[in-house]
Amino acid sequence: MTVTATRSAVLPTYARYDVTFVSGEGSWLVDTDGRRYLDFVAGIAVVGLGHCHDAPLGAARAQLERLWHVSNLYWTEPMAALAELLSERFGGAQAFFCNSGAEAVEAGLKYARKATGKPGVVALEGSFHGRTLGALSVTGQPAKRAAFGPLVPEVKFTRPDDPGSLEAAASPDTGCIILEPIQGEGGIHPVPEDLLVGARSLADDLGAILLFDEVQTGVGRTGSFFCFEQVGVRPDAVTLAKALANGLPIGCLLVSDEAPPGLEPGDHASTFGGNPVISAAACAVCGAIDDELLGRVRENGLRLAHSLEQLAAVKEVRGLGLLLGAELERPAAGVVSDCLARGLLVATAGEHTLRLTPPLTISTEELDQAIEILEEVLEA
Ligand code: PLP
Repeated sequence: MTVTATRSAVLPTYARYDVTFVSGEGSWLVDTDGRRYLDFVAGIAVVGLGHCHDAPLGAARAQLERLWHVSNLYWTEPMAALAELLSERFGGAQAFFCNSGAEAVEAGLKYARKATGKPGVVALEGSFHGRTLGALSVTGQPAKRAAFGPLVPEVKFTRPDDPGSLEAAASPDTGCIILEPIQGEGGIHPVPEDLLVGARSLADDLGAILLFDEVQTGVGRTGSFFCFEQVGVRPDAVTLAKALANGLPIGCLLVSDEAPPGLEPGDHASTFGGNPVISAAACAVCGAIDDELLGRVRENGLRLAHSLEQLAAVKEVRGLGLLLGAELERPAAGVVSDCLARGLLVATAGEHTLRLTPPLTISTEELDQAIEILEEVLEA
């Protein structure tokens, strides 16, 4: 398969593979020629329950037949129910709903500014928080920022492996420390626990908001609903998006009940945020991510990581649960194309890292099938 630069009516912001998908079921996708692909991308950690999962499908369908949209001038039951479910999962929080990860980050940055009255942000080198100007401003990847300045001022970047440099980057003007507990787009790099602990105590000392961006790590991907549950550091606020509605567009900022108050009526808004159809699907997703599924994610994550470690071409395996990166000697893009040609979808995260984010519902047989194809490609 070749990568086509563009089809003429679409702005060329993506280098897309020359394949068009028409349907999906569970861990499988079908293209226009009727060919089946085992999906270890899952929309990049989005389709957590697999394609067309009964629970969100049924909930969205029922809500579609009842009510599609009302303004946020009014309440809907699915939106309030979703906020309640997420608050329970967090252990006491209030939600703002929007439509994507970048928007959730924007909401988090605005909340932190308003709550603390301080404009400074400390973020990590190698991080990724989205492509809108605010989210891009706190994204620690210079190549993605270069063409789009001037960006939001007073953002400092610090090394993820050095708690000392985090402290040095912060100042009394720091109102927000933002980080992904595992850097996803940056190459599947878990942030060391001592930095997370350091960030918590620094935020407390400075009166800053500790904001965890769990857009990629959240909603069960790492084997717990939030990744922070496994790293032992509780943030003041969390962003979620990707998997929350299993593929329908949603973003969410959760602010802990213990965090300082910030946003008031008129401060922030989103026309579609909390849409009842999407919220109904997201409620069903939250219901499906139970202890049994989370246990399977942890088990299958270990099985997949172990199988990858056995491959000679794999130098290192990083990540947690079913958010895994395999570091290769060679560029990962060629491996992705070779896997695609053999009916397996995988992605990259950086030049040499193969990213594996299958549905959380993946079976052990499907895991083994994927490993067989990867072995064929990598050992060829
Ligand atoms: N934050 C993180 C950690 C992400 O991984 C991403 C997307 O990959 C985003 C934010 C941006 O999300 P979206 O593409 O939905 O705007």
